Amino acid sequence: MPVFVDKAKIFIQSGKGGDGHISFRREKYVPNGGPDGGDGGKGGDIIFKVDEGINTLSDFHYGGKYKAENGENGNKRRCHGKNGADLIIKVPEGTVIKEATSGKVIADMSGDNREVVILKGGKGGNGNMHYATSTMQAPKYAQPGQPAIELEVLLELKVIADVGLVGFPNVGKSTFLSKVSNAKPKIANYHFTTLTPMLGVVDLDGAKGFVVADIPGLIEGASEGAGLGHEFLRHIERTRMMIHVVDAASTEGRDPLEDLEAINNELKNYNADITKKIQVIAANKVDMLPEGEDAEIIKKIKEKYEPLGVKVFATSTLTGKGIKELLYYVSRTLSEIEDKPITFEQEFFPEDMATEADEAFSVYYDQDEAEYVIEGPKIEKMLGYTNLESEKGFAFFQKFLADTGILDQLESLHIQEGDTVRMYGYSFEYYRNADTVPADDETIDEDEE
Ligand code: GDP
Ligand code: MG
Repeated sequence: MPVFVDKAKIFIQSGKGGDGHISFRREKYVPNGGPDGGDGGKGGDIIFKVDEGINTLSDFHYGGKYKAENGENGNKRRCHGKNGADLIIKVPEGTVIKEATSGKVIADMSGDNREVVILKGGKGGNGNMHYATSTMQAPKYAQPGQPAIELEVLLELKVIADVGLVGFPNVGKSTFLSKVSNAKPKIANYHFTTLTPMLGVVDLDGAKGFVVADIPGLIEGASEGAGLGHEFLRHIERTRMMIHVVDAASTEGRDPLEDLEAINNELKNYNADITKKIQVIAANKVDMLPEGEDAEIIKKIKEKYEPLGVKVFATSTLTGKGIKELLYYVSRTLSEIEDKPITFEQEFFPEDMATEADEAFSVYYDQDEAEYVIEGPKIEKMLGYTNLESEKGFAFFQKFLADTGILDQLESLHIQEGDTVRMYGYSFEYYRNADTVPADDETIDEDEE
C-alpha cells in the first residue's frame, strides 16, 4: 500500500534544440559558395535517477526550476552546435512523478525504474547545408531547433505497507499499532499528521517483519465518497492483507457482528476485489469480557468467519493478549502471498507535448510589412523537404496548406487575392482557386464518383 508521506512540486524543463545555421562558403576567387550552415546541437534531457543515499524529498520542498542545458546553434563552415548537458535529478526510491495539474503518473521510480528520461531535449535543427538541391543552390532556409518542454511535476514519496488496519473508530487500531512497538516485536513509528496514515515497521524474532498502516478515516458511507473515505479505500486497495479490528466487548454499545459486516460492505461497494484480499479478524478488548476468549460473542464471530477462511484472534491491545499469535500468523500468511511490488503505470506522456509543439503553427498579419506570415516547426519541416520550384512539389505544398487548415486561417484573417504570404524566406502571392490543387490525378477521380 502506498502511503504518501512526502510531497514536493517543482518545474522541470528540457533543453531547447540549437537552431540550424544559414551561411554560404566564402572563399577567395569563389563568388557563390554553396550553403555551409551547420546543424544545431540537441537540448539536454531531464533525467530522474534513484539515489540510495536519499530518503526524503526535503531537497525539493522549496520548489524551483530544474533546467537542462540548451543545445548550441549551428555555425558556419558546417560546424555543429554543441549538445546541451542533461540534468540528472536524484530522488529516493519509491518517488512517484506526476504531472502537477492532472495528477497523472509519468513515472514510478521503484522496482526496475532506476533511471528514467522524463523530458527529452529538443532536436537540433538542420543547417542550410542540407537544403541545397539542383534547382535551389542557395537555400536561405535552416531548421530551428525543437523547443524546450516545460512541465510542473508533483513528486510523491510512496512507502509500501503490507498490511492495513481497518475497523470502526475507537476499536483499538491506534493502540494496536503502538502496542506492537513496545514489546519485542518493535515498531518504528514514522511521524505523520493526524489525517495521514500512521506507518509501523513490525520486527519479529525468527520471522519476517512487515509494515502495518493505521489509516484514519474509514467511516460509514465511505464507499459513497463521504469524508476521507475514498482516499482511505484507495490505500487499502493496495495492501496485501488486512487486519480487521472490532470491539468484541461492545464497550460503546455497538454490535461486533454488525460492525464487521458494515465495514466489509463498505469495502465491497468500493471495489469487490478488495473483499478477496486476505483478512484476519482481531476480536479486540477481550479484557472487558468476563469470560475472555471463551465468551459467546467470540464463538459467534469464529462460527461465522472461520468457515470463510478468515482467521479470528481474540485480542486485547491493552494487556497484549493474542497479539503475538496474530502477528506471527500475519507474517506467515504474507510469506505465502506472492510478493509483487506495487508500481504505478504511466498515464501521462510528456513526448506527446513535444509532438504537439512540433505540429503547432501560427498564422498572422504582419502590419509593418503588410504581409501574411505562416510560422511553425511543421511548416519549416515541409519547406525543408519540398522543392517548391517544381510544379509537383508546389502542388503538394498547397495541398498541405489546405489540409492543415492554414488556408482557412488566412481566409479568416480576410486575406485578399494578390496579397503576399511569407514563410521562412519564401514569399507567395495568394490566389483563392489555385488550380494546382489537388496534387494528383487519383484524388480527382474520387471526387467525380
Ligand atoms: P482507534 O480509533 O481504533 O484507533 O482506537 P484507539 O486505539 O484510539 O482506542 C480507542 C479507545 O479504546 C482508547 O481509549 C483505548 O485505550 C481503548 N482500547 C484500545 N484497545 C483496548 C483493549 O484491548 N481493551 C480495552 N479495555 N480498551 C482498549
Ligand atoms: Mg486511531
